[in-house]
Amino acid sequence: MKTKQFGKGGPDVSVIGQGTWYLDRGDRKGAMAALRHGIELGMTHIDTAEMYGDAELVIADAIADIRDEVFLVSKVLPSNASRRGTITACERSLKRLKTDHLDCYLLHWRGSYALSETVAAFEELKRAGKIRSWGVSNFDADDLDELLKVAGEGKIACNQVLYHLKERAIEHAVIPWCARHGVAVVAYSPFGHNDFPPPSSAGGKLLAKIAARYKATPRQVALSFLARETPVFPIPKAASAEHAAENAAAGALVLDAAEIEELDAAFPRGAKPRSLPML
Ligand code: NAP
Repeated sequence: MKTKQFGKGGPDVSVIGQGTWYLDRGDRKGAMAALRHGIELGMTHIDTAEMYGDAELVIADAIADIRDEVFLVSKVLPSNASRRGTITACERSLKRLKTDHLDCYLLHWRGSYALSETVAAFEELKRAGKIRSWGVSNFDADDLDELLKVAGEGKIACNQVLYHLKERAIEHAVIPWCARHGVAVVAYSPFGHNDFPPPSSAGGKLLAKIAARYKATPRQVALSFLARETPVFPIPKAASAEHAAENAAAGALVLDAAEIEELDAAFPRGAKPRSLPML
């Protein structure tokens, strides 16, 4: 598994990580084993949130004896993101994850609390050793400008945003903003949250053609395409060990410039939308 630096001054983190939304639904033992298998294959970046039901409990079981090998991320809900509420929410997540610290803690999306309150809480959690870094999610470039004014350079570790072949809006302003300021971009729903190009579509056929050259799969080609830009880290969610293994192997796949151009043409970026798309 390739790694790259997660934000300016941050640690090296696996290029492909693991999402956990809906991981608590269905066969929990199977989901736990899938997560563990993914970690063993190098997908050590684990993304969760207080919003994801019991996903934090599933993760706690999967990482109990390998906590230090994992880059663990959770998120506070905007409705809890006051100065005090953020700290309480973080402590709840730590308890559920059975750990004493998070590697990164994110504001899930922008809500009604002033950014200065949430940032003050994040900095307090950092001083207390409960989080190593903090970031945000679903922030557009103008939100990031505001946040930068509040926090200052070098504080924001990442921005987690929607990014898949059919939704490339972040390429207009968010990726360039993050690249300029040394902020990692975490690509959520990299398979479109169950909207992956079907094999019969023109895009699906191109993915299959490129995949065949590498004895790879269309999803591996998609992940490699999304991770091509320096600051981007896709985090697919997989509830089966087979899916986790397939996703982890994408961490070694490098597409050439011509293939990237073909994919770029088949899945056009489109015009910049008025607001940032999110799930
Ligand atoms: P996703 O990763 O785009 O897609 C997940 C779906 O793809 C699941 O149905 C999964 O099936 C399937 N899948 C995974 N690997 C596969 C493979 N190799 N072959 C075939 N199917 C495969 O969707 P997502 O869960 O929405 O996004 C990923 C993560 O991003 C989330 O879990 C969450 O951690 C994060 N996220 C964050 C936000 C935010 O607002 N910050 C929003 C959405 C998501 P199985 O489960 O059956 O393996």
